Amino acid sequence: MDTLQNRLDIIEDRIDAAVRRAGRSRDEVKLMAVSKTRTRPEVEEAYGLGLRLFGENRVLEAQEKFLGLPSDVELHLIGHLQRNKAKIAAATVGCVQSLDKISTARALEQHCAALDKTMAVYIEINTSGESSKEGITDDQELSSTVEELLSLPHLRIRGLMTMAPFTDDEDAIRASFRTLRRQREHLASRFPAGDFSELSMGMSSDFELAIEEGSTLIRVGTQLFGARR
Ligand SMILES: *Cc1c(COP(=O)(O)O)cnc(C)c1O
Repeated sequence: MDTLQNRLDIIEDRIDAAVRRAGRSRDEVKLMAVSKTRTRPEVEEAYGLGLRLFGENRVLEAQEKFLGLPSDVELHLIGHLQRNKAKIAAATVGCVQSLDKISTARALEQHCAALDKTMAVYIEINTSGESSKEGITDDQELSSTVEELLSLPHLRIRGLMTMAPFTDDEDAIRASFRTLRRQREHLASRFPAGDFSELSMGMSSDFELAIEEGSTLIRVGTQLFGARR
């Protein structure tokens, strides 16, 4: 039967196999349920199956859907954040994974300060070179974004996020994930005050490759909830 439970079981089996191939352990990889376009009852069903980490692309959709869910739900923004939505983001999500602009970071800092709240952030890096994708491409810009983040008291850098290119070419996908891992190593040695432990990479079509390349957090939508409407 095609139920959420069955799809989750299949994903868990595939995660287990991938961590074994990579000589890693299951607890090194978090599974995020990407619930964009899904309904509140679908989120509640996923919660009932033990899922706690959710990802949404749009701040307003997240705000509406997640209001009043149990406090152990962890909600991350994984879609582009516009500066004029920073206030709602500060109040709605526990982490922004898609940070790629200093101006957005400053707006987020200001609103988190007003709420007396500390927010985890990941920097989104464009590792595919595809212009349709968000994320920082320039090394200099990446360094100055990290420097800025380290100076903002209500934001805590936790890692990096990327999307692989949209292709069947496994080598190109792996290259993208390796670029993110190398950036992490580079930043960790250059900015010892920062915490770059999380590598958010891998989606429905490529999460096994991502796990083999060192992902600590995979973001799965369609494989879990079915095709998006
Ligand atoms: C939609 C989305 C996902 C999940 O995509 P699926 O292919 O449905 O698993 C993951 N990450 C980001 C940034 C997304 O926008």
